[in-house]
Amino acid sequence: MVVVRRRVQSAVTLICCPIMVDDPASAAADAREARDRGSDLVEFRIDGWYSGSDDLDQIPQLVRLLTDSPLPCIVTCRPVLEGGQYDGDDQARISMFERLCAATSAGEHAPTYIDVELATYTRSQNIKQKVNLAVDHPGQLRSVTTGLILSMHDFQSRPPDLFRSISLMTTEPACRVSKVAYRARSLRDNLELLDILLEAKAAGKPMIALGMGQFGMMSRVLSPKFDGFLTFASLRRSSATAPGQPTIDELLQLYRFRSIGPATRVYGVIGWPIEHSLSPLVHNAGFEAAGHDGVYLYLPIAAEYEHFKATVLSFVDHVGLDFCGASVTIPHKENLVRLARESYDEGDGRWSWDELSAVCGAANTLHITRDAKGRAVKIRAVNTDGPAAVGALRDALGGELRTVVILGAGGTARALAAALVQAGVRVRIANRTPERAVTLVTDLQSTLRVDDDRLSTVEYASLAAIGPDAVFNTTSVGMSTGPAPHDVPMPIEVLHALPRHTVVGESVYTPRITPFLQAAIEHPAGAMQTIDGSRLFVEQAAAQFELWTGGQAPRGLFARIASESAT
Ligand code: NAP
Repeated sequence: MVVVRRRVQSAVTLICCPIMVDDPASAAADAREARDRGSDLVEFRIDGWYSGSDDLDQIPQLVRLLTDSPLPCIVTCRPVLEGGQYDGDDQARISMFERLCAATSAGEHAPTYIDVELATYTRSQNIKQKVNLAVDHPGQLRSVTTGLILSMHDFQSRPPDLFRSISLMTTEPACRVSKVAYRARSLRDNLELLDILLEAKAAGKPMIALGMGQFGMMSRVLSPKFDGFLTFASLRRSSATAPGQPTIDELLQLYRFRSIGPATRVYGVIGWPIEHSLSPLVHNAGFEAAGHDGVYLYLPIAAEYEHFKATVLSFVDHVGLDFCGASVTIPHKENLVRLARESYDEGDGRWSWDELSAVCGAANTLHITRDAKGRAVKIRAVNTDGPAAVGALRDALGGELRTVVILGAGGTARALAAALVQAGVRVRIANRTPERAVTLVTDLQSTLRVDDDRLSTVEYASLAAIGPDAVFNTTSVGMSTGPAPHDVPMPIEVLHALPRHTVVGESVYTPRITPFLQAAIEHPAGAMQTIDGSRLFVEQAAAQFELWTGGQAPRGLFARIASESAT
């Protein structure tokens, strides 16, 4: 009877840790670490180590590695042509598989799977017969437990013969699991990969479908939602075997991989670049704390409006994805309002936006409501940046918020100015480029129907005379990855000429104490009261969370994560 102890029988998506074998002893140690970190199986990538010659010593070493493996395993010897390191001939490689399976044929320590590329498999009838000898095959008398994974990879782009190849793999009787992995050209390629998983599920065929590169992470994380057979996750960033592969810790801790299922709602942060965003840390932890069945991803979309539009519309319209919301950041805040306006149809009222987004022409939040069939019935653009800053200022000053000076005239300045004016506060704008400040003031005066007394520009020399309750920085000056990380956004002597009780607010949150806040702390009369950028970040994120979940945001948790992450 076939021994099936190590055969993977699972309805859930497995985590497989790929291990590049340089020497079998350290590969075995890595396999133990993978098990300890939460992997379900390991893939021994022997292509850099296996010589392809008839080195008889290598097979016993490999058998020992499999015998000692603490987890079920895949053995892969990927040729150079498909992104691996093996440059020997196919015959030697397949003979190695055959010898390996024969040597472990008691079943207990056989590889659970061997991975052979579809191209190799179809190239030679001889190889086909040999592989079929080596793997679990109906009618075989030998007690082997090894299954065949047929795979195809494209590290450059989407393969043109994708569906023909999938059909060849899934109709091959010896193939137990089919695998496609290709470089995602944009986030939209993930939708195709996830649809491939759904189709395979409907046909009862185990399938792995993964995107490579920065755009492909989504298909890797969402595999369980679409019943993927497995997803790959490395032990460390440096040991990833494909571009864009997450680590086991990221999958399990950041994305809460084990809690993702068919009904999980999908959210994310849209921007370009986006990899430094704190939002996934905060929102995923919030979903966990609130028991909300959601996962929050990095969603990189190239800067041009056309990319933004095509991606957001395809996500909104995809019924199985359950895309329910996004944080939207630089450079797409204006694009979100533009898309909402272009998609607006008075007849169906599906698309809408809030008043602040309309006033400042920028929104940072997308909220999608779906019906029971998963169709998007309401799509709303909302601006939570402005109210977040007003709330933080009100908390700091109590009711005494009369005049605020805003430094900067970009998107954040516009949202803050509009929200403050709407809240009845007098606003003064100072900016490096004075013409931009004038444009902002003129636009908002006409939209909000207010005069110079309520909203105007100001020069640094007159700040002390105005006696503002607060000065709020909305420029990117002081941001560690920005254009002027060591500068302050206004002359320090002007700041120090303000009364000490003036509140100093900051929108930059990396680092937590910016040079501007440091200057406020060093006021000659004693430290001024400050609002750091993480406070604004927490408030705008909390408002998003409450829109999406309908529950109260865990602000304390958000604040702790933001302050631990901002160095
Ligand atoms: P934006 O539209 O690009 O505006 C940038 C502003 O910074 C402009 O006023 C620009 O002045 C000014 N600026 C840039 N470099 C400067 C320099 N070297 N010296 C003086 N002024 C300079 O950007 P935004 O969307 O408003 O975002 C601004 C900052 O707010 C970013 O750092 C962003 O991360 C942060 N933010 C934080 C939160 C949060 O949750 N904490 C939320 C939103 C935004 P010119 O007009 O002269 O070019």
